[in-house]
Amino acid sequence: MQAMWLYGFELSVMKDKYGEYRSITGHEGTGCCWWCGGKFPDKRPRRFCCEECRNKYQETYYWFWAVPVALQRAGHKCEECGTRGALEVHHIEPLNNEPRVCNILNRSENLIVLCRACHGKRHRKDSWEKAEAKGQAILGLYK
Ligand SMILES: [Zn+2]
Ligand SMILES: [Zn+2]
Repeated sequence: MQAMWLYGFELSVMKDKYGEYRSITGHEGTGCCWWCGGKFPDKRPRRFCCEECRNKYQETYYWFWAVPVALQRAGHKCEECGTRGALEVHHIEPLNNEPRVCNILNRSENLIVLCRACHGKRHRKDSWEKAEAKGQAILGLYK
């Protein structure tokens, strides 16, 4: 079993009959509901105690479910300039090389809905700040 740490969370890659998973809430792989940590109603192998917990977990950590939730929260508008149209969902704390599919970084407070223009600006600003933090910012290279 590989284990690594990301922002204080241990990311161990584990496996069950439904596929590979990582520990996010700490309930994964414990034989309890992944979302609420509650007991399962019977011995049947499962990940969640009820449909509500499944939905909550998926909407919080799965990119595929988190995106429509973020768009709805934003009212299908860019959260920076209010534009409607081609919208993209941006990770405030970047994923770097972490897998996107299921990740603690997909939780809604780490997502912001941006139009293409604002998204591009945001990434240029982020790379400038990163470069600056590393002492690599060269005047005129990043705007
Ligand atoms: Zn539950
Ligand atoms: Zn915008």
